[in-house]
Amino acid sequence: MISPVMPTYARAPLIVDRGEGPWLFDTEGTRYLDFGAGVAVNALGHAHPDLVEALTEQARRIWHASNLYRIPGQEELASLLCAHSFADTVFFTNSGAEAMEGCIKTARKYFSHKGQPERHRIITFEGAFHGRTLGTISAAGSEKLVKGFGPLLPGFDHVRFGDHDGLKAAIGPQTAAILIEPIQGEGGIRVVPPQCLRGLRELCDEHGLLLIFDEIQCGMGRTGRLFAHEWAGITPDIMASAKGIGGGFPLGAFMATEEAASGMTAGTHGSTYGGNPLAMAVGLAMMKAVLAEGFMDHVPRIGGLMRQKLEGLVATHPTVLRAVRGEGLMLGLECVVPCADLVATARDHHLLVVPAADNVVRLIPPLNIASDHVETALSALDTACSVIEKKVQAA
Ligand SMILES: *Cc1c(COP(=O)(O)O)cnc(C)c1O
Repeated sequence: MISPVMPTYARAPLIVDRGEGPWLFDTEGTRYLDFGAGVAVNALGHAHPDLVEALTEQARRIWHASNLYRIPGQEELASLLCAHSFADTVFFTNSGAEAMEGCIKTARKYFSHKGQPERHRIITFEGAFHGRTLGTISAAGSEKLVKGFGPLLPGFDHVRFGDHDGLKAAIGPQTAAILIEPIQGEGGIRVVPPQCLRGLRELCDEHGLLLIFDEIQCGMGRTGRLFAHEWAGITPDIMASAKGIGGGFPLGAFMATEEAASGMTAGTHGSTYGGNPLAMAVGLAMMKAVLAEGFMDHVPRIGGLMRQKLEGLVATHPTVLRAVRGEGLMLGLECVVPCADLVATARDHHLLVVPAADNVVRLIPPLNIASDHVETALSALDTACSVIEKKVQAA
């Protein structure tokens, strides 16, 4: 018999009860160190006092009013995002996939508004993940995402990751944009090197294309800059943010330059809940925390420490682990054994980590972890690797 909760997830046998900072407690009171952070969402950990206060205070004031009226929180958060990014304008959504849909719509509308509606195709990359709506699975195009859900949304050209010639060949008279994650998350913490991001910007400028970044997972301070593309010294025309932007409250955003958003006039797009006062209160508290003096400097420092220790772990357990990938606090362990084994065994030792494609285990902890949390995580991983080694030897 089908379960009342539709069984689209193969869930781990952990029943979530409550959280506190980087710690998650199950209903039996067992404490886990949460280095998955709700898949890079809980950037300040669980139940951060600033976020709790912002949410509860707003809950007493007003929850929802619709976008028929001005929402001061939207104006304040959008201004902050624009002041600290390439963007001139922001649309708030409830999720990452909706933010990506907004990016796709903005790019298509830009060219139709300019009298070039035939330019609507978007180039995307193998291994990409942009969400689970029909538009975003069509954009990513992988078998795992699209199988059985056709017909898909037309207008996407898929290029192999790192295939420069294939990318150039894919550009045609109908191409509107190139869409990429500066660091693939679900795809296995695959980093696009800064020189490649710069190359993409040049290619877009040369062909009059829009450059769209999906920073839903790699943005909001995860690499030590507000957005990961900042390390490359270039900017996109359109970008999606979500996950960390709400710190656990459902919130996403798509942002654009004034030029790229020129088609997005009154009546062209909307959302009932997008930019709702509760989300804005939490988003503002989140943004203020991330922008606070020293907050983002901490990320490459603690990320560097963790990376160094993970390299040591790989050297100690070569039959389990192959390599370390990633930037800041978006790190991946390339496994020799099935990555699901490491995820499950780490959980047995009270460490939560997240699997990704390419047989990679993701370590995407809250951004405010301390070095003793890194020690605890590494010790759990070391134990888990030893357990797996023994099993491999016995087999
Ligand atoms: C999680 C994610 C999405 C989808 O976000 P949802 O909130 O699940 O819709 C899109 N792109 C990237 C890079 C993501 O990591």
